[in-house]
Amino acid sequence: MTQAQLTIDLDAIAANWRALARLSGAAEAGAVVKANAYGLGAGRVAARLQAEGAFSFFVAEAQEGVALRAAVGPTADIYVFTGHMAGDTAAIEGAGLIPLLNSPEQVARHRAALPGHVFGVQLDTGMNRLGMEEADWRAVAPELLALAPKLVMSHLACADEPGHAMNGQQLAAFRRMTDRTGLRRSLSATGGILLGAEYHFDLTRPGIGSYGGQPFAEARPVVHLSLPVVQTRTVDAGETVGYGNTWTAPHAARIATVSAGYADGLLRALTGHGRLYCGDTPCPLVGRVSMDLMGVDVTHLPEAPETLDILCPAQGVDRLAEAAGTIGYEILTSLGGRYARTYTGTDA
Ligand SMILES: *Cc1c(COP(=O)(O)O)cnc(C)c1O
Repeated sequence: MTQAQLTIDLDAIAANWRALARLSGAAEAGAVVKANAYGLGAGRVAARLQAEGAFSFFVAEAQEGVALRAAVGPTADIYVFTGHMAGDTAAIEGAGLIPLLNSPEQVARHRAALPGHVFGVQLDTGMNRLGMEEADWRAVAPELLALAPKLVMSHLACADEPGHAMNGQQLAAFRRMTDRTGLRRSLSATGGILLGAEYHFDLTRPGIGSYGGQPFAEARPVVHLSLPVVQTRTVDAGETVGYGNTWTAPHAARIATVSAGYADGLLRALTGHGRLYCGDTPCPLVGRVSMDLMGVDVTHLPEAPETLDILCPAQGVDRLAEAAGTIGYEILTSLGGRYARTYTGTDA
């Protein structure tokens, strides 16, 4: 094997999404497929989730929506979190996207450029990232309500911490701004779904849980990543491995050099913390992670391995993320373009 092998289990994604849809209760479960479905392939993932019953898809940018439209066909709803930005009009119109308008400026732009074109509204309930502030919403709501927005949504900042006071505060703000509007409402991503029924409203927006990541602890693992060993050598006690001589062999050791590095999304921050696996047996990374290569101590294995796994049953995305000081989301969205990608499970 000369190329690293990334295997993406579409059946696991479908099972995770179905589980989150069940947990969403009476609410419809949408599917968040921004950033190329968290690096896993928006076209393949969305088509499969559509076959499972997903109807409402969410992307970050209009151009992602254009690509997604080709994958899901004309009937699906495609919402755009960044709303209607300058220069997006042709994409929104051409691909029939639903911008989630974030400001009075976006409302004005949308109404001027595409009068009569469907839209939704994103409200800020305290995260201060995207969405209309409460005062702006109060000012434009009477006019906008007459135009029947398709959805009104907001996003929780701390939903992965169920005990965090911010959750209740944002819920109260969302209700204050949207109760009695009669609009279809959405507040929760994966974390919010797990907070319970009062957070579900009409439509939920699961992302990471479908892709096998925390905070959905019951998620089935989705990705497997196996790296080829280029060569194996023995080093004597006192010899060093890699750039900067940061690792010195404490005793004679056998070192495997695997073909993948930070250019493939295996973050340099794994240096000193990361592990690869031979089956269930952990093998520590030694020396700095290079652009295309990493050193692994395989002294304790009975024979030199031909491949070593970095995402596998013994080490999922969240465990690898922890070793790199980050989150599963970043591990997934960093997965590189040089892997041979194989999809298992049934396609749409
Ligand atoms: C990314 C995102 C989601 C999905 O979040 P997960 O935590 O991955 O489930 C939902 N809504 C918005 C606004 C987002 O930015």
